[in-house]
Amino acid sequence: MPVIMDKIVSLCKRRGFIYQSSEIYGGFGSCYDYGPIGVELKNNIKRVWWKAMVQDRADVVGLDSAVIMSPKVWEASGHLTAGFADELVECKKCHHRFKADELKDKTKCPDCGGKLTIPKKFNLMMQTYVGPVQDEAAKTYLRAETCQGIYVNFENVLDTMRMKIPFGIAQIGKAFRNEITPGNFTFRTREFEQMEMQYFIKPGDNDKYFDEWKKQRMDWYLNNLGIKKENLRFREHSKEELPHYARKAVDIEYNYPFGFKEFEGIHDRGDWDLSNHAKHSGKDFSYFDEKTKKKYIPNVVETSGGVDRSALVVLLDAYHEEKVRKETRVVLKLDKDLAPIKVAVLPLVRNKEEIVKKAKEVYEILKPHFMSMYDDTGSIGRLYRRQDEIGTPFCITIDFDTLEDKKVTVRDRDTMKQDRVAIDKLIDFLQDKLAKR
Ligand code: ATP
Repeated sequence: MPVIMDKIVSLCKRRGFIYQSSEIYGGFGSCYDYGPIGVELKNNIKRVWWKAMVQDRADVVGLDSAVIMSPKVWEASGHLTAGFADELVECKKCHHRFKADELKDKTKCPDCGGKLTIPKKFNLMMQTYVGPVQDEAAKTYLRAETCQGIYVNFENVLDTMRMKIPFGIAQIGKAFRNEITPGNFTFRTREFEQMEMQYFIKPGDNDKYFDEWKKQRMDWYLNNLGIKKENLRFREHSKEELPHYARKAVDIEYNYPFGFKEFEGIHDRGDWDLSNHAKHSGKDFSYFDEKTKKKYIPNVVETSGGVDRSALVVLLDAYHEEKVRKETRVVLKLDKDLAPIKVAVLPLVRNKEEIVKKAKEVYEILKPHFMSMYDDTGSIGRLYRRQDEIGTPFCITIDFDTLEDKKVTVRDRDTMKQDRVAIDKLIDFLQDKLAKR
């Protein structure tokens, strides 16, 4: 693994961002748990996405559909057939498995040089049984993408929310894929979370909305998540690699330590999903256009991002090492909206009762307004280091002078500049500093 990945994995564990799932039993096949700091980061990413995609838009509404659906959904969507399968090859000698399309030489094992089997199709759907009898009739699947829950609710949302085309439905939720080659930490896992939006449009408007969403999504990563421009790029899919449902696809890629790779896809899905669900369910999903008095099956432009990959991108992009007085300072320069903890309250010394008491009082004042943390379990230098490593924008120290002048020291994470601020002005001061400009 590249050095920077090792550092991120270790920081994630050390500071409560991400733990290996079922760690006490030796871990479980590429599943991860988000710790107390990681869950805040993830929630913040989702909140910022929801604001941009739902709250700020009159033409997009939200949804939270079930993970387990009728297996008929997956028959109709094409996920049970070859469409949603990877080509798998296995080394006859060391038995390592690879995705065929990731190998340069499809005959030789990249690990031991052994001979590889011919590629076999491997379906990625996770199976389960619903109910007490585990037979064919009880078999179903965990969803492999959140958007199918959107398509099967298209009519419900259209009718109950009085939507007019063009409009979108957005959803955030878990998805499951029995990946052949999970790895690179949380980049490819078998359980992950997606943030997807399906935009229903008039046939023929596909290119216009595809280009519009492509631009909006890239701008969101630049401006809302604060990702560096030089680390982002678009990559258009060739005809041969298009997913089974797509007429056109472009990925937004990040320059990970293991190369440029996708973390969001924008897809022109045409009428693939609604037409197939109409065919399989017997329902009519055609839309009556009041202007032209004509009926049509809406087409879809989809934006499909990963919460976990976004969190990984945010962590990698924010990671900095700086030399400060001959020591290395590790700091996450996270966008303030994404920072798990906005303000930490730290007593300058921990063996002085009045100072500890005052610091706890200040924490109580701030807690209802900001995600805050109180910490007195180390020397002030160590406490600062911890907060820098989780990207806390402001640290507040309570010292002997505080007891006299009712002021505290506010330290800025990025500049390390310190301001003396009166306790009764602290909420306004921090609100102003944390506001998005
Ligand atoms: P890849 O080519 O990397 O397998 P994909 O093209 O299959 O990804 P999509 O089906 O377009 O991915 O899913 C949309 C988004 O969901 C991806 O951009 C990614 O952020 C996320 N995602 C998909 N598969 C995984 C996975 N196994 N682990 C983590 N996130 C994933």
